[in-house]
Amino acid sequence: MLKQYDYIIAGAGCAGLSLLMRMMNDPFFVSKKILVIDAATKNTNDRTWCFWETQPDLFEPIVHHQWKQLDFFSNYFSGSLGIDPYVYKMIQGIDFYQYIMNTAAQHPNVEFVQARVRSINNNSEKAGAELVLEDGTILTASKIFNSILFTPIKVASNQFYFQQHFKGWLIKTEEACFDSSKATFMDFCVSQEHGTTFMYMLPVANNKALLEYTLFTEELINQSEYDIALKKYIKEHLKIDDYTIEHEEFGIIPMTNVQFPRENGNIVYIGIAGGQAKASSGYAFKFIQKRTAAIVSALKNGTSFSATSFKNVKGHLYDSTLLRVLHERSMNGDEIFAQIFKKIKAADVLAFLDNESSFFTDLRIMNSVPIKVFLPAALKELFAYWKYRNEK
Ligand SMILES: Cc1cc2nc3c(=O)[nH]c(=O)nc-3n(C[C@H](O)[C@H](O)[C@H](O)COP(=O)(O)OP(=O)(O)OC[C@H]3O[C@@H](n4cnc5c(N)ncnc54)[C@H](O)[C@@H]3O)c2cc1C
Repeated sequence: MLKQYDYIIAGAGCAGLSLLMRMMNDPFFVSKKILVIDAATKNTNDRTWCFWETQPDLFEPIVHHQWKQLDFFSNYFSGSLGIDPYVYKMIQGIDFYQYIMNTAAQHPNVEFVQARVRSINNNSEKAGAELVLEDGTILTASKIFNSILFTPIKVASNQFYFQQHFKGWLIKTEEACFDSSKATFMDFCVSQEHGTTFMYMLPVANNKALLEYTLFTEELINQSEYDIALKKYIKEHLKIDDYTIEHEEFGIIPMTNVQFPRENGNIVYIGIAGGQAKASSGYAFKFIQKRTAAIVSALKNGTSFSATSFKNVKGHLYDSTLLRVLHERSMNGDEIFAQIFKKIKAADVLAFLDNESSFFTDLRIMNSVPIKVFLPAALKELFAYWKYRNEK
């Protein structure tokens, strides 16, 4: 069986559905036949996205909660961070999936298939790409947007691969225990025995908060250790004894300076598979939004999908430098983040983490951390990047 589409979106997760939503919002795509494929039904609340932005974007109608103030805690510095002009926002996975599926139901040019994809290849004869399902069905399109990681990420000997892994509990208390007007961005006052470790605390009501025990490490820990850490934090830091767990989530996000493919013939990579998780923070949601908006514009204008901005190259070098420092253990993550947040305005740090900061801000951030630790690491990464560019 052979079916032909204009576009196939492989993977109906954050990247696939963000791209679909942007296409559905633009009249240019109204006559395009679009197929979206995912192995899962996407009807569970499997993740919560947080991100910051200065202006409302496409998903403003489903923002679950937002904060204008973020707290930061560590043994080196603690403070309340005003983040204006940014707002820190939360979207629940289930709201995101339903919002986009409901919108798609109004678009007869969009088709969904629930199936496992075996492979995606270029098809030179048809000047397009083809996707093979587990049952052998072949589907073809002029472009396939792929967010599926078919094989584990390959890490070369001069690259770093950390995992941001976390367990989250949405807890509910009988009494009002939280101030839902501010969130804890990072609380490093937890054991650092495994490496960079902190807690997010995101209150969504005065008796409800999402707590996420988060680590940046090369190896994972035992499942029971996340529960122990969450229980300890709730009891000892928050001084809460009575609560119920309303929702649980677990996640692993790659934090790596591996160079991901952006485009291969008629296959365009998006999401984590396209390298959209920021290597120094694990945040991906806003990078996915930028990438999918750029793809829509490239499709309309017939321009390249691979163009990468100077700001992103700069961001890659800064991220690689941080990963090297963490890998070589020349400074601990809690101290690095504390020094930056102590000396630099939070909004500038958020712009930096978005790859949107000015060179002047970058210099101030570099100056906020010890030069004897970061300069050698930065020079090594600059050399590695120069070598990579020359070998390409
Ligand atoms: C629990 C969790 C919380 C996160 N929180 C944040 C956050 O707060 N802020 C932030 O910026 N980032 C966050 N991230 C990181 C990132 O934003 C998410 O991982 C995001 O979902 C990545 O989007 P994606 O489209 O690349 O991958 P996914 O959303 O995982 O989508 C990939 C899709 O491909 C499908 N699939 C996989 N293999 C196949 C196959 N062989 N055939 C068919 N379908 C297949 C999967 O079912 C899935 O639907 C979080 C990640 C997790 C896991």
